Amino acid sequence: MKFEIIHTSTKSRARVGKITTPHGVIDTPNFVAVGTNGTIKALDSILVEQLGLQLMFCNTYHLLLQPGTQVVKEAGGLHQFINRKLPIITDSGGFQVFSLAYGSVANELKSKGTKKTDGSVLKITEEGVLFRSYRDGSKVMLTPESSIAAQKDLGADIIIPFDELPPYHICSKLLEESLERTHRWEKRSLDAHLQNPQDQAMYAVIHGGVSAALRRKSCEFLADLPFDGFAIGGSVGKNKTEMIEMLSTLLPLIPSDKPNHLLGIGDLSSIEASIPLGIDTFDSSYPTRSARHGTALTPQGNLNITKGENARNFEPIDKECLCPTCRQFSVAYIHHLFKAKEVTALTLTTIHNLYFMVQLMNDYRAKILNDEI
Ligand SMILES: [Zn+2]
Repeated sequence: MKFEIIHTSTKSRARVGKITTPHGVIDTPNFVAVGTNGTIKALDSILVEQLGLQLMFCNTYHLLLQPGTQVVKEAGGLHQFINRKLPIITDSGGFQVFSLAYGSVANELKSKGTKKTDGSVLKITEEGVLFRSYRDGSKVMLTPESSIAAQKDLGADIIIPFDELPPYHICSKLLEESLERTHRWEKRSLDAHLQNPQDQAMYAVIHGGVSAALRRKSCEFLADLPFDGFAIGGSVGKNKTEMIEMLSTLLPLIPSDKPNHLLGIGDLSSIEASIPLGIDTFDSSYPTRSARHGTALTPQGNLNITKGENARNFEPIDKECLCPTCRQFSVAYIHHLFKAKEVTALTLTTIHNLYFMVQLMNDYRAKILNDEI
C-alpha cells in the first residue's frame, strides 16, 4: 500500500491524499460504505462499483459466522466471492463481539451502564474472547491470531488488528488495563500479519476511550510499530462536541505521513466537522441504513420519502442529482414502493444515498484543493 498527500489546506489540517492498494486507488478524504455480510444491503457489487464507491467495509465477525471464512477462501477470497474489483477493508471482529456485549454508546448511556444488552461474551482472557454465536449458539474463541487468520482468508486490502472495545462507562483503572491488553493484542495481530503479509496493509487502532492521556499513550505505543495506517476506535465521547474536542487533540499526535480512519462515524455533520481536523476516511452504515428507512440525503437536507405529502411528488429526489434513481424515477413512485413494501424501494433509495456520499466527498476534496476548508 502506498499513501501520498497531494495537498494540505492552508486553512486547516484538512488534506487530499491518495491511497494505492492492490485493487486500486482510494482518494481521500473519502466515505467508506459498510457491507457487513459482503454486500451493501439491497445493492450488488457491480452497481456499487458503478456508483464510484472506492472502499467497502466488510465485517469479519459476520463473515466468520456465515458463511465461514474458509468458504470465502475456497472461493478465491472476498473480492472473487462477492465479485468486487475495487478495494475492501475488513475489521477484526472485536468491535462486534464487544458491542453486542455492551450495546452501543447511546444505549449504554440510556441504561447508565448498569445493564448489559446481551450475554454473548462468555469470557475475556489474555488469550482472547470466548463468545456465543448469535446464529447457532455455538461457542467461538476469537484471538488476535485467529482474527488475523480469518482476515487472511478474506484477503481484504486493508485489515485491522484484534482489539478490545471497553464500555463507555468504565473506571479509569479498568480503562488503562483494557488499553494495555489491546496494545498486546494489536502487537500479536501485527506479528501474525507480518508472517504472511499477502500484500495486505494493516491499520493500528488507537484506543484510550475519552481519556486524553491514554489516547496519547496509545498513539505513542502504536506509532513505534510498523503499521501502515491508523484507525481511531473506541468511544470518542458521548456527543459531537466531546468527539471534536478529542479528535482535535488526537490528530496532531498521529503520524501524518500515514493514512488515518475514523471507525464507525460517518453522519454528515461529523464528516463536516472532522475533515478540517485531518481525517482521511470514515465508515458508517448511516447513509445506507437511512435509505432503507425511507430517508434520502439531499443538499437541501433529508427527504422523508414515506411522508404522505410525497404520494404525488412526481419530481426526482434531487433534480440536480445524476444518479440512476434520480435520472429515471420519481419520489412518488419510490413512495408507492415503500408503501407497497416492495424491496425495489430500498434499492432505489440506497443507490441515491450512496451516490450522494460519493459526490459529497468529491466536493470536499475539491474544496480542500482550493483551500476553502
Ligand atoms: Zn440521486
